[in-house]
Amino acid sequence: MDTGPVVVVGAGQAALEATAALRAGGHTEPITLVGAETVPPYARPPLSKGFLTGRVGTDELWLRPESFFARQDVTSVLGDPVVEIDRDADRVRLASGEWIGYGTLILATGSSPRRLSVPGAGLEGVVALRSLSDAEELRCALREAGDLLVVGGGFIGLEVASVARGLGLRVTVVEAGPRLMGRSVGGTLSAHLAALHRAGGTRVLLERELVALRGERGRVQVAELNDGTRLAADVVVVGIGALPNTALAAQAGLTTGNGVVVDRWLRTSGRNVYAIGDCARFPTPHAARPVRLESVQNASDQARCVAAGLTGNRRPYTSVPWFWTEQCGVRVQMAGLTLPHDRAVVSGSAAEGRFTVFRFRDGRLVGAESVNRSADHMITRRLLADGAAGPAPDEVARPGFDIRRHLSRTG
Ligand code: ADP
Repeated sequence: MDTGPVVVVGAGQAALEATAALRAGGHTEPITLVGAETVPPYARPPLSKGFLTGRVGTDELWLRPESFFARQDVTSVLGDPVVEIDRDADRVRLASGEWIGYGTLILATGSSPRRLSVPGAGLEGVVALRSLSDAEELRCALREAGDLLVVGGGFIGLEVASVARGLGLRVTVVEAGPRLMGRSVGGTLSAHLAALHRAGGTRVLLERELVALRGERGRVQVAELNDGTRLAADVVVVGIGALPNTALAAQAGLTTGNGVVVDRWLRTSGRNVYAIGDCARFPTPHAARPVRLESVQNASDQARCVAAGLTGNRRPYTSVPWFWTEQCGVRVQMAGLTLPHDRAVVSGSAAEGRFTVFRFRDGRLVGAESVNRSADHMITRRLLADGAAGPAPDEVARPGFDIRRHLSRTG
């Protein structure tokens, strides 16, 4: 396929994987990767986990060795973001003023943390966690702090809470919704996680909102909640979700709406323009409506899908979504998009800390949430990818159910 020069906007997981997959697929045209940050592409998952404790060093974050770009003949432009797409002339303008022409444009612009809008949100000590520099700032702050307030009981907030407890801080999590991780998991797992965090000494406050942060000499000290509670806080981590970076696409007249809107082949409404990763909203056989997902799996698989299309192996994007998190010493893995569902059946033992919640819609397996049960997770992913019928809910409910037997029967 004649793609012309490829320009990739962004330098995160999706962007990097796209360039690597293009070259691996035999693509020989020029490729330019343009990133806003000054550092080469790095892995984000450790930033809210081992990087904060020092267990994972900066050197372990880089997604490829420095030699990758020269070896693969990929031009990387770092610290000079794209500020305009000129679709009439098929070119992009960088902040420095330079124009780069493209035959194919891949938008991998990612997402940005939602910001708090309460008084005091701009005080020193209030941090959102997205970039390596955010994580460096937080790592330092946690070393000095005594009281951490986490706003938002989602992936980021709970991972940071868990690490901070391990470091000996007093930790409070304030979640606006009625349960933890409400966007991503069902009630059983939410309750299990809340119990684990509480058992570890974290104060978990549900259905509570922050109304103000107060400080002294520009630094945060106290948080006020909507029920009048006042909490000491010398660091506040804001983990209240992320918004897709769509400004560039919207300004270029591409269709947007909770993400850059793409079709099954991840094509935007613009000619020869694709969008992948956190910024893209796409249709999937795993959900009734188009979705936008923030995960390494989604970023990497979408990158490979677009690269395959551009190297003569076009196929729609159908990957099974999966996610994972590590909190309070347990590994939680999610396969499929499990909401909405009409039945959930637990296999294993929550009391022993090893179980999976299998979810069904119309009697069909649509997803699973596993705690320290990786085999359940992996096999569910495989069943969903194969479009296999999977076990029936009643079968899962029987004592001694083992999904491995199901796989060997069907596969
Ligand atoms: P992230 O990837 O940032 O962790 P999630 O969507 O997993 O994002 O979790 C964000 C959590 O923050 C959700 O559980 C949501 O209910 C909660 N939340 C959103 N706004 C507020 C707020 N103002 N105060 C407290 N919690 C909030």
